[in-house]
Amino acid sequence: MPYRVAIVGSGTAGPAAGIFLARAGHEVTLFERAEEELAVGAGFLLQPTGLAVLRELGLEEEVLAVTQRIDGLYCEAGSGKVLLDLNYGELEEGLFGLGTHRLSLLGILLKALRSAGAGIRWGAEMVEMSEEKEGRFLSSAEGEREGPFDLVLLCDGARSRLRDQTGIAARVDQYPWGALWFMGKRTPEFVPNCLWQAVGTTRELCGFLPTGTDDDLLSLFWSVPLDKPLPSLAEWKAEVLRVVPRAEGFLKQVTSINQLQRASYHDVRMTQWHGDGVAILGDAAHALSPQLGQGINLALVDAATLAECLAELPLAGALMSYTRRRKKHVGFYQFATRWTTPFFQSDHVWLGTLRDLAFPVGMKIPYVRKEMVATMAGLKTGPFSRLTAGDLAR
Ligand SMILES: Cc1cc2nc3c(=O)[nH]c(=O)nc-3n(C[C@H](O)[C@H](O)[C@H](O)COP(=O)(O)OP(=O)(O)OC[C@H]3O[C@@H](n4cnc5c(N)ncnc54)[C@H](O)[C@@H]3O)c2cc1C
Repeated sequence: MPYRVAIVGSGTAGPAAGIFLARAGHEVTLFERAEEELAVGAGFLLQPTGLAVLRELGLEEEVLAVTQRIDGLYCEAGSGKVLLDLNYGELEEGLFGLGTHRLSLLGILLKALRSAGAGIRWGAEMVEMSEEKEGRFLSSAEGEREGPFDLVLLCDGARSRLRDQTGIAARVDQYPWGALWFMGKRTPEFVPNCLWQAVGTTRELCGFLPTGTDDDLLSLFWSVPLDKPLPSLAEWKAEVLRVVPRAEGFLKQVTSINQLQRASYHDVRMTQWHGDGVAILGDAAHALSPQLGQGINLALVDAATLAECLAELPLAGALMSYTRRRKKHVGFYQFATRWTTPFFQSDHVWLGTLRDLAFPVGMKIPYVRKEMVATMAGLKTGPFSRLTAGDLAR
């Protein structure tokens, strides 16, 4: 039976779920508070898990055309020690990541969503959700009432305001550290197929992610404490160059501190990701720090899993099954991210000393290396379990 489905939020989870459900014959309307298709956001790393979902949607070729293949991750400490030098291919041949930015991915998803026949309503900030005999209703900030819907998908990000109206307990913590990011033209000091990082103490972290396109772009991330004002441009450049001297040429493109965008991160924990006629996807359900680069990928897998559950089971059972099937995968990354983030972004400088001693040793142990690559690739579902290429090609 086709359902009337409302989706709140046009980030990644919302449009991806919308394509699956509209193609399955459901009547889908997506509500987004932004006035138009304007995804702001830094470059991000699409993992094999996220790419598998896009492949399932038939969008792989379009995605490959606007992304940069990333074969591995390299991270060095100020002491000159190599902390991480990992290659996707060490785990399975043909495995790789893709550097891209949100606008490229969103454009592809929205085109597919429109072709699938879904409605998209821009400038619709949904502020209230109610449950009545005929189904669920949503009300916008402008006072418009929409519905009834058989199913509402909350894909409205870490700071979701509708999440509290589901009655499902949620704990939301903001990380004390965030990031400044800047996108510029790649300079030759940074190879095009590697996520390159450098760390000082736990207070200094800098990342460079090639994000492809014809302009050969590179996204820079710099760790910042959220409780301190931004430094001047000269102070900021001096700090970055202390950790990454090779960035001198790239930094010439930053001529004003206002070119840097500031991002904060949240940690969201919920006991379940469904209620009566409601499912919660992506960051709204389980936001985490971007330390392991998994948020967009988890959001894509959420969308595919929910669609699979709805195709197999009646509504109430499908929603329960959605929470159950996502528990292990999401749970592993929430746990791993919470534990690793302070080693790279915190005021606990001693953790940096421990990190600089332990990581080079771990890198020499083949089992540990493999586990690190599997974690980076988004494949882990528990300390001793992981997805395989076969699981991804469902
Ligand atoms: C600096 C940084 C780097 C990152 N790097 C990576 C990476 O390398 N790899 C990775 O996988 N992830 C990365 N992430 C995480 C990733 O950005 C998120 O996990 C991902 O965007 C979550 O997608 P989403 O669809 O759940 O939510 P979002 O992308 O947050 O989208 C939510 C949407 O809902 C809309 N909305 C909110 N409230 C309402 C409302 N009331 N009514 C209507 N619309 C509403 C918003 O406008 C927005 O469009 C990074 C994050 C940051 C901050």
